Amino acid sequence: MRRPIFLSIVTIISVSLMVVSNEARQSRASLALHQVDENLYMLANAPSVQGMGGGGNTAIFVTSSGVVLVDTKISGYGADILEQVRGITDLPISTIINTHTHWDHSGSNVEFSDSVNFIVHENTLSHMSRPTCNDGAGYRGGSITNCESFKGDNSKYLPKTTFSTRTSLFSGIEQVDLYYFGRGHTDGDTFVVFKEARAMHTGDMFARRGLPYLDVDNTNGSAIEFGLTLEKAVAGIAGVDIIIPGHDNILRTWDDFVNYSGFYNDLLTKAQTGLAAGQSPEEVIEAYTVPQRYSDFEVTEQRLAATVQHISDGR
Ligand SMILES: [Zn+2]
Repeated sequence: MRRPIFLSIVTIISVSLMVVSNEARQSRASLALHQVDENLYMLANAPSVQGMGGGGNTAIFVTSSGVVLVDTKISGYGADILEQVRGITDLPISTIINTHTHWDHSGSNVEFSDSVNFIVHENTLSHMSRPTCNDGAGYRGGSITNCESFKGDNSKYLPKTTFSTRTSLFSGIEQVDLYYFGRGHTDGDTFVVFKEARAMHTGDMFARRGLPYLDVDNTNGSAIEFGLTLEKAVAGIAGVDIIIPGHDNILRTWDDFVNYSGFYNDLLTKAQTGLAAGQSPEEVIEAYTVPQRYSDFEVTEQRLAATVQHISDGR
């Protein structure tokens, strides 16, 4: 009698595993590879994908000593990223940079080899290594910081290389420059510049041509500092023509990035001026219009309300 019971349990488990893997396969977003330069690519959601899809854009940069990735999408996309890399080169993935901690940018870190050199801003490491991760704002109830994926045995995936304001990797035509200019989307956002390609991954400091999500609640982002940080990046980075945005599924230009700073800072100035003159957040929102020169940038009611409220709260 024991044997049939055992078999039926095995059957149930295998059926439920099949259901899970089918669900995972069905919810899988198609990805599209864009060549940026001879050795640089952007792995984005395919144009048909609506919403979050596989998460943020991944940069793939091939050096003579290995492959550098910037951001690893949401959890479960490690094999998809590796498959795309294998279509380009047989070299191992040697370095992974996360622009920030969020679940849709560091989700698949733990699906790569733990011999990879993981690199983040020092504030991002502090979010990844938090003792508790119970904000519940991320994917399927996980935390937005993705810190639960680095617990237990996976603590070996916590980045061992950090920086505070600026650092460079490799040299010559392989040089990669990492910049930090202050709080914004989170308090640990890195701009990654591929020098020879004249290209930059902005992470979610420029996710798409629209008002940003500002994570002031979980990772010490700031609506007020976001504008200043963009201005510092525009003034402090030279030699970039092409932008790999955090989420937009096409490449953008340096001019788009400069205009993004102008667009955001126009709203910041209008809000601060209105609030200082005694307007309520609702009155600031009512009075706001997108300047003609920034008409390519999307302003949703919800993002506008959240941004103005954060500014009003001094956050
Ligand atoms: Zn983010």
